[in-house]
This record gives sequence, C-alpha cells and structure tokens, in this order.
Amino acid sequence: MIVAIDGPAGSGKSSVARAVARRRGLMLLDTGAMYRAITWRCLMRGVSCEDEGAVSREAAQARVSFGVGDDGSQTVMLDGDDVTRQIRLPEVDRNVSAVSSFKAVREAMVAQQRQLAAAQDVIAEGRDVGTVVFPQADVKVFLTADARERAFRLPLIPLAGAWCPRRRGVRGDRVAGFCKGRFPVSVIPFCRLKRARRGRAGRARARAPLGAAADAVLIDSSRLTFDEVVDRIVRMMDRVG
Ligand code: C5P
Repeated sequence: MIVAIDGPAGSGKSSVARAVARRRGLMLLDTGAMYRAITWRCLMRGVSCEDEGAVSREAAQARVSFGVGDDGSQTVMLDGDDVTRQIRLPEVDRNVSAVSSFKAVREAMVAQQRQLAAAQDVIAEGRDVGTVVFPQADVKVFLTADARERAFRLPLIPLAGAWCPRRRGVRGDRVAGFCKGRFPVSVIPFCRLKRARRGRAGRARARAPLGAAADAVLIDSSRLTFDEVVDRIVRMMDRVG
C-alpha cells in the first residue's frame, strides 16, 4: 500500500500523514526530512550547500532511513545516526531549498524513497510524491486549505512589527491540532507571506513544481476538522483494500 499526500505549506499534510500512519501502522515517509538530512550532512562536512557537484556527491553517498525513538515517535536516521532534531535547525531551514533543487540530489532521494516503499506499506508526504515519486500510488491526496487557514496553522514569529507565519519550528499541538492558540488574522501581513513563498519557491520549484496529480483526490481542509481529514483518507484506503 502506498498512500501519497501532496499539498502546500500549512495545508496540514505532515500532521495528517502522521496521524494516518499511526492509525494504520504505515511507515511515514517524510520526504522533506530526507532533503533536510542531506542538508545537515553537507553542513556537518563543511560542504557548501550552493555547490551542486559537491552536494550531489554527498547525496549519492548518504543513506537516509526512518527509525522509532524511545517514546515511540519516528526518528530520522542519516548513515545510522539519529538526526531528528538537527534537521529542524534554522541552518537547515535556510539551506534545504538550494539542496533539494539539485537534479542529482532529487534522483538519489527518489531512488531511496522508492526502495523504502518497496519494503513496507508507506504513507509518503511531500511536494512531489503523487506526481513524480509514486505515480502509481494506491491512494493519492492533494491536501489544501485557503490562504487564511494556512497562515493560522503555521507557527508565527514576530518580524518587522507584525506576526508572520514561519515555515517550521513548532511541532505538536499547535500544528497537529490545527492551531489551538489562534492569532487575530489582522496582524498577519498576507502580502508579505505571499512574497516570501514566491521567493522560497525558486529553483526548487522549477524541478519539483507543486501541483496535484491528475488522479489525486483534492481535500480542502479549511472547512473540515483534523479528524475529518484523517477519516476521509482512512476511508479511501479501506476502499482500495
Ligand atoms: O516539508 P519540509 O519543510 O520538511 O521540506 C523541506 C524542504 O525540502 C522544502 O522546503 C522543499 O524545498 C524540499 N522538498 C522537496 N521535495 C519534497 C519534499 C521537500 O523539494 N518532496
């Protein structure tokens, strides 16, 4: 069984994928974490994340896998070492977009993603899993939410006198429970959010454009609760066996 969940930042795809994985005992194939692990390896080895040749060599040598931590949560392993925490560092945030834009890096990661899925049932989450990595997935979902909802769900950081959604940082209830502590929407400058998103897209998007596969089921989570989204995906899985 391969379940593929694509969608934009803030659509809730990571939290939803994690919940479905837990409910159905699937391995969570967090593709973003794999690109982050390669980025961390480059940083650790003093390789410039802008150097396509050097980064590509690192990716070719690296082995990324997933394990289970003492508390039962999933861990990200790089060459046998647990790098679950390190890959969320701001340095990795800053460089992962460049690293993930390189063709050879993507090829190496896609090959590893397919190997992992050949060995076990997986729920894969990322920007290209339904289109590029697993076009033959049994269940394909493109999870989205309107801009206002997505902004609510992203962790917020103070920037230039306003609260701005940050791509990463806080995990757990605030994101997983679809934002328990809501912020007044007026303090979020949406124009700035859009501009930041466009900037970040850059080269990475040229190679892995974010888009729904033609056969993906679109789920707009703006008007659904977290559990409703998870239930829908689980029902889709039941239908395909
Ligand atoms: O989802 P996450 O923030 O962990 O992903 C880290 C980065 O990896 C993204 O910003 C994106 O640039 C890249 N990525 C990618 N293809 C994927 C998953 C993530 O290029 N399938």
